[in-house]
Amino acid sequence: MMSKNLYEVLNDQIKYELDSAYIYLSMAADSEAKNLNGFATWFKHQSEEEVKHAMKIYQFLLDRGEEVKLQQIDQPPHTFKNPVALFEQALKHEQKVTGLINKCYETAIAEKDYPAQIMLHWFIEEQVEEEQQASEILEQLKLAGDSGAAFIMMDQHLGMRESSD
Ligand code: MG
Repeated sequence: MMSKNLYEVLNDQIKYELDSAYIYLSMAADSEAKNLNGFATWFKHQSEEEVKHAMKIYQFLLDRGEEVKLQQIDQPPHTFKNPVALFEQALKHEQKVTGLINKCYETAIAEKDYPAQIMLHWFIEEQVEEEQQASEILEQLKLAGDSGAAFIMMDQHLGMRESSD
């Protein structure tokens, strides 16, 4: 049986992953409204990924014979100043999620829950990738500065993203 402490942090993590999905979906909507269709595609894929993250933990809890208690999802901001602001927020958000995943892992270690530790290894690696991706795009956007041409190329580049986990 899973300890109560670990159960609670994992059940909470489902909400945080769905919060992420909602934030990215909001970023997709704002981008599309501003004709940044490549950005919109990128954020929609990102949002779908976050739902998959939530579902990994959802399934893990059920497989361990635990209950899934879904919580209320926070309302995300619905408008963003500019693309740099979008990716600044995305990076800040992923840094927060990394902290939450680390907390889950620390709890799994403290509670000597080996299956949870193994399940969380995937998330720890994923967070390295998430932060790297957001910061790389942010740096490229900063380099583009006020160049409309560079900016349109970034939009096209981001629009080429395909689905993944
Ligand atoms: Mg995630």
